[in-house]
Amino acid sequence: MRDYLIAGNWKMNGSRRENDALIAGIRQSTPTGIEFLVCPPQVYLEQVGALVAGSSIGLGAQNVSEYHGGAYTGEVSASMLAELGCRYVLVGHSERRALFAELDEQVASKFAAAVEQDLKPILCVGETLAQRQADETEAVVVAQLDAVLAEVGSTGFAGAVIAYEPVWAIGTGETATPEQAQQVHALLRARLASEDAELADSTRILYGGSMKPDNAAGLLGQPDIDGGLIGGASLDATQFLQIGAAAPVSQ
Ligand code: PEP
Repeated sequence: MRDYLIAGNWKMNGSRRENDALIAGIRQSTPTGIEFLVCPPQVYLEQVGALVAGSSIGLGAQNVSEYHGGAYTGEVSASMLAELGCRYVLVGHSERRALFAELDEQVASKFAAAVEQDLKPILCVGETLAQRQADETEAVVVAQLDAVLAEVGSTGFAGAVIAYEPVWAIGTGETATPEQAQQVHALLRARLASEDAELADSTRILYGGSMKPDNAAGLLGQPDIDGGLIGGASLDATQFLQIGAAAPVSQ
């Protein structure tokens, strides 16, 4: 039995005033039985941590350094995120892979650094449009997952989350159909099962890529889709909550 996780990736958006209003809106009617998570920019983690305190909304970061500490100007370590109350951290988001040249090996090191501090990594995987058109989707997402499994093994993966995010669907208004998404989710779960059946059964695999209130029910109704990683729609409390409300209560 996997509880649904609805995670908001705020990206580089927000201000102290906007964050106050957004969290107040989400707190007004957070449904029970579904885990909600918000991932604000790092500079707002402390503020948002205080705003969600005492609620069922979790706090996550959008990035983490693979290093423990020292002369790494501009970096933030996993222990610092844990100290601020983060429970989760995104690793390998496609924007970090594409815009900041993060490679699979670095993503795997970040994942391992998070696990060492008891942060739950949300490993983002996904193919570009060109890769989908070249029929490379399966190879790409499995290679992204394998890089992490090679670093931490199946025991290091326990408690982690995968987010399947086709790059062509992120911020574009294009969404994978429920069937397209389910196919990739099932493949990722099968890959985990080849390592450890129990791990495969317990690992939540989120879908991300223009998930909105009007397409959420179809996606969240698929047997291997255990929640969503939401970008644009997570900046609107009503839409974020509506996406959560579209999840079947149990699966
Ligand atoms: C994301 O950034 O992870 C994402 C899924 O964005 P959007 O929902 O805006 O496509």
